[in-house]
Amino acid sequence: MYQTTYQTEGKNAHKSIDTKTYTTSKKVLQTIEIYSQKYGIGGKIDTYDKAKKLIVERKKKIKTIYDGYIYQLYAHYHCLVEMGYEVENMRLYSYDDNKSYNISLPTQDTKRQYDFEKLISRIHDYKLQDHFAVNANKCNMCIYNPLCDVSTC
Ligand code: SF4
Repeated sequence: MYQTTYQTEGKNAHKSIDTKTYTTSKKVLQTIEIYSQKYGIGGKIDTYDKAKKLIVERKKKIKTIYDGYIYQLYAHYHCLVEMGYEVENMRLYSYDDNKSYNISLPTQDTKRQYDFEKLISRIHDYKLQDHFAVNANKCNMCIYNPLCDVSTC
């Protein structure tokens, strides 16, 4: 097994979360497993602060807020709400420069929620034989690049 620089750096940004040592506060849940039956998605969140009703997703360094970052928070939101948690705030955190970016809730941005649902449907309907447009810029930064058969890099 081997990891690229991107993977190692990304892992370091999540280290305190993954080891659940980011905080000892019982109000903050760290790396909990989440699932949404409605959307057929699951995963893990970085942190959820019960008192602030806040989800935070950490990235090593955020230079651009990509749609994927926002959809990741949308997925976290829907899973947590379905599991019975209250979410009133969502935030991206850029570890290297210590910056935070507030993201509107799905209930506050109906257009983005609509696009999120369309994306989830496309993922569910995707077949491996379908045409796939490779984006060299994404491949360049992708942690799966060394394992990927269709990468252009
Ligand atoms: S390397 Fe492969 S998995 Fe990664 S973005 Fe490119 S095509 Fe997608």
